[in-house]
Amino acid sequence: RASMVDVPTSPGESIENVVIIGSGPAGHTAAIYAARANLKPIVFEGYQVGGVPGGQLMTTTEVENFPGFPDGITGPDLMDRMRRQAERWGAELFQEDVEAIDVKSSPFTVQSSERKVKCHTIIYATGATAKRLRLPREDEFWSRGISACAICDGASPLFKGQVLAVVGGGDTATEEAIYLTKYARHVHLLVRRDQLRASKAMQDRVINNPNITVHFNTETVDVVSNAKGQMSGILVRKVDSGEESVLEAKGLFYGIGHSPNSQLLEGQVELDSSGYVLVREGTAKTSREGVFAAGDVQDHEWRQAVTAAGSGCIAALSVERYLVSKG
Ligand code: FAD
Repeated sequence: RASMVDVPTSPGESIENVVIIGSGPAGHTAAIYAARANLKPIVFEGYQVGGVPGGQLMTTTEVENFPGFPDGITGPDLMDRMRRQAERWGAELFQEDVEAIDVKSSPFTVQSSERKVKCHTIIYATGATAKRLRLPREDEFWSRGISACAICDGASPLFKGQVLAVVGGGDTATEEAIYLTKYARHVHLLVRRDQLRASKAMQDRVINNPNITVHFNTETVDVVSNAKGQMSGILVRKVDSGEESVLEAKGLFYGIGHSPNSQLLEGQVELDSSGYVLVREGTAKTSREGVFAAGDVQDHEWRQAVTAAGSGCIAALSVERYLVSKG
C-alpha cells in the first residue's frame, strides 16, 4: 500500500463534505443522494484495485431483478445510467483507485495516485469480490455457464431445466444449491472435503433433498464444452484416488465465498472476522464517527444490487444528518 506522500491536494485546498469510495450500486446511489443534498460529493470510482468502475455488475450480462426494468437491463447499461444520474446532480467523479485513507483524526484524508483529498466524512462502498477457482477455462465461460450468484442467474434461460452444479461446502454453497433446485432439473454439489461446513440445518436440507447429489472428496478441475462451444460438463477429480471424470452439467455456480474490499480500513474501523466492515445494525455507521459504509463491503448476507443501492441511500442521508448535527 502506498504511504501518505505529499501529492498536491485537489480539488483546491478545501475540506470536502464527503468522499465516496466505489462506483457500484452503493457508491453511485450514495453519490446521487449526496449530490442532490448539495453536498458536492467526490467519488473515487476505482480503476483496478477491488474491481472496475461500475463494480461487479460490469461483469454480468442481464440483470433481471433490479426494479424498474421489466424487460431486464445489462449490468453495464444499468451502471452507466446510475453514473450519469450521479453526474447530472453534480457529483465529481475520478476514475482512480484510492490507495490510502487516514481516518484517525478529523478531517480525514483520502489519497489516490493522482490526488489527496481532505474531507469531513467518507462513504466506503468498495464492494466485495466473489472468490474464483481460477479454472483454466473460467474466463471463457464466465457468465456463459459459470456464475457466482444463483439468485441473480438461476432463472436465466441458460440454466432453467438443466443439470447444474455448485462448488463449495459452506452455507453459501448449500444455500445456492437449494435455491437452484427451483429451476434446475438436478443439482450436483461438489465438495472438496469429506464433509460439509454448512450449519447442521443446511446440511440436513441438502442431504435430504432428492434433487441434490452431494459429491464429497471431489475437486473441480475445469469445465468442458460440446462441439458448439457451449458448456456441457465439469471435469472433476476424486481427491483420494486422483481419478478424473466428466459430470454432465450446463452450469457451474461458485459458492466459495466473497472477499470484502476492506483493506484500506484495516486497523482504523472495526471489521468482522471475515473482513466485512461492521456497521451498527440498521445504519451505515462504522465504529469511527464520520465514516459510513454501504453495499457488499458491509453485507455478507444479501449481496444484491438493490440492497447495495438501498444502503448507499442510507449512508448519504446519514452523512447529511451528521454534517448538519456538526453545524
Ligand atoms: P461493487 O459493485 O462490488 O462495487 C465496488 C466498487 O468499489 C467498484 O466500483 C470498485 O472499482 C470500487 N473499489 C474497490 N476498491 C477501490 C479502491 N481502493 N478505490 C476506489 N474504488 C474502489 N445483483 C443483483 O441484484 N442482480 C443481479 O443480476 C446480479 N448479478 C450479478 C452477477 C455477477 C457476475 C456478480 C459478480 C454479482 C451480481 N450481483 C447481482 C451482485 C451485485 O453485483 C452486488 O451485490 C453489487 O454490485 C454490490 O454493489 P456495491 O456497490 O456494494 O459493490
